[in-house]
Amino acid sequence: MTLFEQNGVTRFIDMDKKISLIVIGGGPGGYVAAIRGAQLGADVTLIEKNRLGGTCLNVGCIPTKALLHAAEIMEEMNHAAEYGIKVKAEGYDWKQVLAKKRAVVNQLVGGVTGLLKANKVKVIEGEAAFTGTKTLSINKKDGKTETLTGDKIIIATGSVPAIPPIPGVQGNPACIDSTSALSLENPPESLLVIGGGVIGMELATAYNAFGTKVTIVEALPKLLPMMDGELTATLRGLMEKKGIEILTEAKVLSVGKSGDKAEVQVDLKGVKKSFVAEKVLVAVGRKTDTAALQLDKAGIRHDRGKIQVNEFMETSVKDVYAIGDCLGQIMLAHIASVQGELAAENALGHKMGFDSKTNPSCVYTMPEFAGVGLTEEGAKEKGIDYGVGNFPLFANGKALIANGGVGAIKILYGKKFNEILGIHILGPRATEMIGEGALALGLEATLEEVIQTIHAHPTVTEAVREAALAAEKRAIHIPNK
Ligand code: FAD
Ligand code: NAD
Repeated sequence: MTLFEQNGVTRFIDMDKKISLIVIGGGPGGYVAAIRGAQLGADVTLIEKNRLGGTCLNVGCIPTKALLHAAEIMEEMNHAAEYGIKVKAEGYDWKQVLAKKRAVVNQLVGGVTGLLKANKVKVIEGEAAFTGTKTLSINKKDGKTETLTGDKIIIATGSVPAIPPIPGVQGNPACIDSTSALSLENPPESLLVIGGGVIGMELATAYNAFGTKVTIVEALPKLLPMMDGELTATLRGLMEKKGIEILTEAKVLSVGKSGDKAEVQVDLKGVKKSFVAEKVLVAVGRKTDTAALQLDKAGIRHDRGKIQVNEFMETSVKDVYAIGDCLGQIMLAHIASVQGELAAENALGHKMGFDSKTNPSCVYTMPEFAGVGLTEEGAKEKGIDYGVGNFPLFANGKALIANGGVGAIKILYGKKFNEILGIHILGPRATEMIGEGALALGLEATLEEVIQTIHAHPTVTEAVREAALAAEKRAIHIPNK
């Protein structure tokens, strides 16, 4: 055992014998863990059954945002006359929309491949399954089988779309999941979305812009359950104004056929209604992709496929870690990556715990919606004595220029210490701005510290400071009530 010093951290690692680290899954959790493990001196092997980059790069974050960006260009063009620009989107070339999406995805997957190579990570193409606590059997793409044993193992096998037990969904060609929705031959003429969560809202936004008649059917009283309720209600109104039909407290009873379309039976607050749509997007959540792993053969504790870990990402089996979507907790790429770094650190002599306090939730609607920390509903549930600062974006110059001033910024703070509890933004580039909120929460900032921070003018972020001022009833650009 020798002392090993890196970035001011002392680790106890046997540098004479390279530690072998096996990472299962090459998504944003797995490839980041592999790179960090290699940086820390381990001999790393990564096993991927499908394509490096995982869900996020291939069929998740990146392709959805590529479609949404194309949709946003259309929208901007259709509003260009307001700004004195004589241009209108004549239509779209769907093949090119998909080609651009593919090009971005391929470039990023190529980048990950290059990074793994540069870090001397050995990549095996195949599906891994446990045969013992630290032994894996790999069904390789070339048809061969390989057995691997590692000193340390990190599981990062991610998730796949969940299919609800609604009669008529399984095996119905009109019913699609998010993966198929990203590669349709053409935007459908009509789309019924089951689930008003993140995937439902983002794909509804994209297809609405491409002219599809969209209906969202959400079981709960509120869309986007994890987001701030007041701003979610504003976003709902904006989406309805664009022609998206939104039903809440609505339960899909069954999906049948109507010619080559789907006929969907919905129970809307006790009243039965029928909808016909060319495609039905099933977006009711995702389930962990752990069935093939044979977790029980290694004795790894799990709850119906959700791998159980402690804050150090350690599973119930020593030297085996798990991260990202396969835990079935927070299914976000940035969470998978942070947990990947932590697991690699912990596997290689450090002890770092995971804390989701600064985790931003982002929804790429038009306008964007982002939040970090407690929502008002969360503060109420926890019985916290909180206050709110609100700033509408119609009073912000940059927002007025960008999108007519649609949206608002909301800050929640604790009444006793004035500490920031949560920041919620509905507005242009909200997902970029939420970084300030995450930093404020990480640094346990107070209203005063946000106010003392000079924000550039003209920017939408000025409204974060104004929301903090509004909390103290001293906003400059709105009357204080
Ligand atoms: P994954 O990315 O799922 O990667 C797991 C990898 O493991 C896969 O490549 C899989 O093939 C491989 N694998 C599985 N089993 C085995 C096995 N037995 N052997 C070998 N390999 C195996 N998150 C965000 O933060 N922002 C977004 O904007 C966003 N948008 C999304 C949009 C959509 C449509 C979807 C579906 C998801 C989106 N997400 C987004 C979620 C994000 O994609 C996931 O949280 C993230 O990819 C999880 O990373 P991961 O590494 O845990 O798993
Ligand atoms: P989700 O959990 O965000 O939303 C699912 C929604 O479906 C919920 O509102 C739920 O109440 C509703 N629902 C469940 N069963 C239903 C039923 N039978 N009928 C009607 N509604 C029903 O799940 P998702 O939208 O599928 O997304 C999956 C994961 O992918 C999420 O965990 C999310 O974190 C991740 N993701 C993130 C982003 C992003 O960060 N921008 C984008 C897309 C996906």
